[in-house]
Amino acid sequence: MRLKEKTVVITGGAKGIGAVAASLFGKNGAQIAIVDFDKKAGEEKAQQLHEKGIEAAFFQADVSNSENVREMAVKVIEQFGKVDILINNAGITRDAMLLKLDVDDFKRVIDVNLTGVFNCTQAFLPAMLAQGKGKIINTSSIAGTGGNIGQTNYSAAKAGIIGMTRTWAKEFGRKGINVNAVAPGFIETDMIETIPEKILEQIKTMTPYNRLGTPEDVANAYLFLASDESDFVNGTVLEVDGGMLK
Ligand code: NAP
Repeated sequence: MRLKEKTVVITGGAKGIGAVAASLFGKNGAQIAIVDFDKKAGEEKAQQLHEKGIEAAFFQADVSNSENVREMAVKVIEQFGKVDILINNAGITRDAMLLKLDVDDFKRVIDVNLTGVFNCTQAFLPAMLAQGKGKIINTSSIAGTGGNIGQTNYSAAKAGIIGMTRTWAKEFGRKGINVNAVAPGFIETDMIETIPEKILEQIKTMTPYNRLGTPEDVANAYLFLASDESDFVNGTVLEVDGGMLK
């Protein structure tokens, strides 16, 4: 029970990595606030957690909308009374090579993946500062650390997340808040379902394990950064990519 009585907010918690993290955190004793755009999947996930005896609730919000996020944060704190851990996990892709990249797709990816992290952190940070302790985990990507063909918008957002993570680590570390990022490689979720099978096979060969990552691989990294075991880890980017290309 590494997170006994902790309240965790997971954005994008209805599906993919966020949903697996919600179950893992629940198993480790946490109460879970699932924040997502997808109401149906979010409610189903909360119900699934309840059935396993985990305290959980779903809050619908678009993380790119600051007003929406502020209202959601008030409701989360009303329901759980506090927030100990924020996982800024919600993200989208709108891929295209630079010359074909529509400016609206550029902006939407920045709005969700980068401004969304800013909005949620601004909304929940005051509660953590009042407690004098908190953990913030931001989801970057290997596209943010190394760039990726066809992902100008996504790479920019994910690199920006690393900048914000390191800045906030310095701003709030002395106030008891740890801020870290996780940079996953290619992980088996809906997000990569548009990648052709042939390319996925090539990607697998880029790790010594000859496989893609699983949502569990990333959720376990979140768990470490959310637990007291990482109290002296601040401003780091934990790569969960099976050692790709290194
Ligand atoms: P996923 O399976 O697509 O799940 C993402 C969840 O976030 C979905 O439920 C989605 O809802 C929700 N979401 C999207 N936009 C939102 C918004 N504006 N407000 C609130 N919720 C929103 O993705 P995933 O693969 O689990 O990815 C989780 C995180 O890991 C993302 O930040 C992603 O960039 C990052 N990551 C993933 C990989 C990978 O290979 N899968 C690699 C590196 C990094 P809708 O379905 O309704 O949009």
